[in-house]
Amino acid sequence: MKVIEHIEKAQAPLFSYEIVPPPRGRSIKDIIEVVEALAPLNPPWIDVTSHSSTSYFQERIDGTIQKKTLKKRPGTLGICGVIQNRFKIDTVAHILCLGFTREETEDALIELSFLGIENVLALRGDTPNFQKQIRVDRTVNSYASGLVSQIKDLRDGKFLDDLDRADSLDFCVGVAGYPEKHFEAACLKNDIQNLKKKVEAGADYIVTQMFFDNQKYFDFVTQCREAGITVPIIPGLKVLKSANQLKTIPKNFYIDLPEELVDGLLESPQHAAEIGMNWCRKQVEGLLNFGVPAVHFYVLNDVHSIVKVVKGFK
Ligand code: FAD
Repeated sequence: MKVIEHIEKAQAPLFSYEIVPPPRGRSIKDIIEVVEALAPLNPPWIDVTSHSSTSYFQERIDGTIQKKTLKKRPGTLGICGVIQNRFKIDTVAHILCLGFTREETEDALIELSFLGIENVLALRGDTPNFQKQIRVDRTVNSYASGLVSQIKDLRDGKFLDDLDRADSLDFCVGVAGYPEKHFEAACLKNDIQNLKKKVEAGADYIVTQMFFDNQKYFDFVTQCREAGITVPIIPGLKVLKSANQLKTIPKNFYIDLPEELVDGLLESPQHAAEIGMNWCRKQVEGLLNFGVPAVHFYVLNDVHSIVKVVKGFK
């Protein structure tokens, strides 16, 4: 079922989850264990992230240096297929612009459709640390709005080549929103105008970047509504687990942490896991009171604290 249908039919608050494919060289068992931990919570859907290739330098035995390029976390499509078909949980496959041609994207969408997957999150991704050569007969999407348009064209049976008797592909499309502004945007207003372009291109819903201050989300929703964005805006939350994340989270996600949370973690780093879960519980309560359509949890490598938090609301 589509994410948007889950939202329309929901009788109780929805809690969705986002997981990351295992690194290359690890087995699918790793991710299955995460899904098994989430399954008793009856997730309406699970997102599976996608990652473009990175390059690195490796020293050969003879001392010369070789440049190697690989995708560190392949397998998004296959993992979505396994979750959807083995666990009967709907999945949302993340699809990136950067690092992929539009032709590769079209093939990936066809594969997803064959696997019975009806949802995608259309993202630009971040610039890879190497420039992939693009063949002259290939094209790219520079922004997520272009990717949304490409996916929506498939709903009308419009493939990149003119195909006779082509069946349409009908995906529900989500996009990313940033309550604290995307790091490259000049200001929040301009970022919201770009978000609106994604919605006008056909996005059905928005999922936000993680935030730790609900007021930032409330203000963002107000500004989006004032800008004429009417689709559901699903808040994204992460449970903090260690005081070390006071450094890594702002650096990696370009967001602020509230003073009260920072002070608590600095005073009692040994109780960071408990502080993180309590903070998240408070955020969920506030968001449910606000009437959010769903709460989306970034699981990353910490499923157990999220399970503990969500169980309190079931
Ligand atoms: P866009 O919407 O294309 O915006 C990127 C920047 O360009 C913004 O600053 C925007 O204001 C600006 N912009 C947009 N359109 C225009 C335009 N027409 N002209 C000028 N400027 C414009 N990354 C991954 O690699 N894999 C994942 O699985 C993944 N999942 C994510 C899930 C969520 C819920 C979120 C919030 C982020 C996720 N990301 C993921 C990170 C995301 O790829 C990065 O934040 C990326 O830098 C921006 O992606 P976007 O889709 O928001 O880009």
